[in-house]
Amino acid sequence: MSDSPSKTLFPAPGPQNVARLAKALERAEVIFVEKNLRFTKLRQQVFEEITLAHGSIGAYDILGRIADKGTRLAPISVYRALDALLEAGVIHRLESKNAFFACRRLHTDDFVKGRRPLFLSCEKCGAVAEVDSEGVFDIVARVASAVDFKPRVKFVEVTGTCPRCAEKEASSSAPADKPGAVTSKSKPNDH
Ligand SMILES: [Zn+2]
Ligand SMILES: [Zn+2]
Repeated sequence: MSDSPSKTLFPAPGPQNVARLAKALERAEVIFVEKNLRFTKLRQQVFEEITLAHGSIGAYDILGRIADKGTRLAPISVYRALDALLEAGVIHRLESKNAFFACRRLHTDDFVKGRRPLFLSCEKCGAVAEVDSEGVFDIVARVASAVDFKPRVKFVEVTGTCPRCAEKEASSSAPADKPGAVTSKSKPNDH
């Protein structure tokens, strides 16, 4: 059986598709030009590493991967490139992990409309999906304005289990697999 539409929202584990990378680079370049920003070599390199990552990736991991390919960079350079990529909207930041992932809606019209996304972040495999849900923001705006609060919500982050991991869990429901015992406790530096 092929992947269900909900599953394809989440990237499959393993190295990401190179053809998809070319497409993403192309799209990012167009967006940079539209926004009058320069898609420099460094920004491209950083964007590439983020796009190739399965889940989200931290700044130091990006630095390490670029170093592995022969380019030594100062952390500040990577941070500046990340800022530019965030500003262009081609990547997003997961606040819970202080890590970055490529916008998965680059190829859709939704992106152009600038609608705010809901980030669904898998606690098991780290995959992140992006779904459209203006309704959530409408509710936040309504509840906040009822108490004269002006919210500035750009996205909402939800952690949980992605369809791939849920399926894996269901098929290997051996008693050894204690529910609640999350294997990948990847919360490096909680503030
Ligand atoms: Zn996005
Ligand atoms: Zn998962």
